[in-house]
Amino acid sequence: MKILYVEDDPTAREYIRRGLTEHGHVVDVAEDGAIGLELALSHSYALIILDVGLPELDGFELLARLREHDTSTPVLFLSARGEVQDRVRGLNLGADDYLPKPFAFAELLARIQAVSRRRLDDPEDFVLRVADLELDLKAHLVRRAGRTLELTAKQFSLLEYLMRNAGQVLSRTMIMEHIWGYSFDTYSNVIDVHIAHLRKKVDRDFSPKLLRTVKGVGYTLRDPDA
Ligand code: CA
Repeated sequence: MKILYVEDDPTAREYIRRGLTEHGHVVDVAEDGAIGLELALSHSYALIILDVGLPELDGFELLARLREHDTSTPVLFLSARGEVQDRVRGLNLGADDYLPKPFAFAELLARIQAVSRRRLDDPEDFVLRVADLELDLKAHLVRRAGRTLELTAKQFSLLEYLMRNAGQVLSRTMIMEHIWGYSFDTYSNVIDVHIAHLRKKVDRDFSPKLLRTVKGVGYTLRDPDA
């Protein structure tokens, strides 16, 4: 999943970023609260991991400002300030979980899984549909006209992003940032290659065609009959 991690300690930041990347997550990092808030408001993340003690804007303040605009992105606090009152304050502000430092990396992974599972308990959220194409987030399955399509993990993320934004044109840069993280080389044609493979699976044997190229702009997924 795509995660934003806000942490001012460079050693912790790099250690956690690398660990999460190795477990298949795409991680954007921010070194202070102001940068963190800016990224959180301008990108869509499946989870935000926040240190409490941060320069510019502390984690509590960041969360309070984020919740004015975005009430749904799960937030996990990660902090040495494991005192009960801090924990309560974070949860009252709308954090989903709180992990006191020091912690074992395996525990962080378990909390991340728990947070994402809880979010999927809302049945409204776990099946995306465009025409006869269905993406089931809980079962991690994609079907078209009742037939199961075999997608790679990247193709699944790409399709999920397109379906969540059905009808909107997504630029290559937006797709790149969302699926591969914002530091990725945007001049590469990796997106076009992934789109071509995805299109073959989603559209080749079916009608109508849902995945469209918008020349000079990017891609869109929509039901032409809707
Ligand atoms: Ca800190």
